Amino acid sequence: MNKNIELITELADAFGPSGFEDEVVNVARKYTKDLDVYEDKMRNFYMKPRNFTGKKPHVLLDAHSDEVGFMVHSVRPDGSLRFTNLGGPTLASLISAKLRIKNDKGEMIPGIIGSVSPHYAKTAQNANGVTQINQLSLDVGATSPAEAKERFGITMAEPATFDTTCEYDEENGLLFGKAFDCRVGCAAVIETLNRIKDSELGVDVSGVLAVMEEFNAGGAQIAARTVKPDLVICFEGCPADDTIQSGSDIQTRLKGGPFLRHMDGSMISHPRFQKFALNVAEKYGIKWQAGVREGSGTNGMKYHVSNQGVPCIVMGIPVRYAHSANGITAVEDFENAVELTVKIVEELTAQVVEGF
Ligand SMILES: [Zn+2]
Repeated sequence: MNKNIELITELADAFGPSGFEDEVVNVARKYTKDLDVYEDKMRNFYMKPRNFTGKKPHVLLDAHSDEVGFMVHSVRPDGSLRFTNLGGPTLASLISAKLRIKNDKGEMIPGIIGSVSPHYAKTAQNANGVTQINQLSLDVGATSPAEAKERFGITMAEPATFDTTCEYDEENGLLFGKAFDCRVGCAAVIETLNRIKDSELGVDVSGVLAVMEEFNAGGAQIAARTVKPDLVICFEGCPADDTIQSGSDIQTRLKGGPFLRHMDGSMISHPRFQKFALNVAEKYGIKWQAGVREGSGTNGMKYHVSNQGVPCIVMGIPVRYAHSANGITAVEDFENAVELTVKIVEELTAQVVEGF
C-alpha cells in the first residue's frame, strides 16, 4: 500500500466528530515530521514547510479535520440513549448504523442505532418512518441509566461517530469508508505540503487542518485571524452527485477530477482566482470539473470575508454518499487535486496575486 493510501485510510478511520478532533491531529502529526507544526487550544493544526520565508504572498491550504457525528443527549429509562447530531448526517443512513461512542474514561464503546423490527411494526411502511434524529435510539446494550453509567461509562454529552473501517480496492483505485469529507482533503493538504517543501516558489504556502467545520466553521474563523493569508484554497471531500442527479444536472462525478465550484450556499469563489486555477489545469492537462452548487458551504465562508478580503477557491475531491456511514472516493481524484494544487502554487507569483 502506498503512503498516501495509508494516510487517507488512517485519517478516515480516526475518531473526530466536530469538537473532538484529537485523534485526527495525532494521525496528522505522524505524517508531517518534515514540516514545522503547531496547534492552538481548539486543536486547529497548522503546518509550515521550512522554505516558508514570510516575505512572499501567503497561500493557505485548508481542510477541516472534523466529521459529522453525534452527541448523547440523555439516557432513557430502558437504558437506550437519546442523541443529537454534530453537523448534518444523512438521516436515512442512521437506521441500524453501527457507532463508536467515546465514554467519560476515553474508552470506545460500540453501539448501534436501533431499528423497529417487522415483528413490532404496525405497517411495513411506518416501521422506520423516522423524520427526526431524536426519535432514534442509540443502543450499547444497557438496560437502565444506572447500568449505562456504571458498566459503560455513559451519561450525557459523550461524542460518537460511525464505526466504519476504510477499505482500499487497489484494482479499481477506490476507497470505501467514512469521513472522506474531509479527511481525503486533510490528506491532500499534507501531501501537497510534503511535495513542495523544498521547491523554490513565488509564494509562501502553509496549511491548516481546521476544527468544527461541520458545526459552525469556527476553526476556520480562528485560522483566518491567526494566519492572515493572502489567498486560500479550501480542500473538501465534496458530495458527488453522479448517482443522484441525471443528464446535464450532474456536475460532480467520481473519477471526474477535482471539482472547483463557482459558487455554493456560502461563498462565490473568487472569479479571477477560480479562472486562474482552471487555466492551470488546462495548461498541464490535469483532469478537472467545475459546477455551480445551489446550497451548502465550506470553510471558504469564513476565509473570503476575513481581514481585508481573501480570494478563495474550493478544491473538491468527490465523495459519493458524504455525511453517511459509508462513502466512496477515488484515488485518482485525490492525486489530481494534489497535482493541480502543486501546479497552482508553482504558477503563482506576487504579481499574479496582485492582479487578482
Ligand atoms: Zn466538508
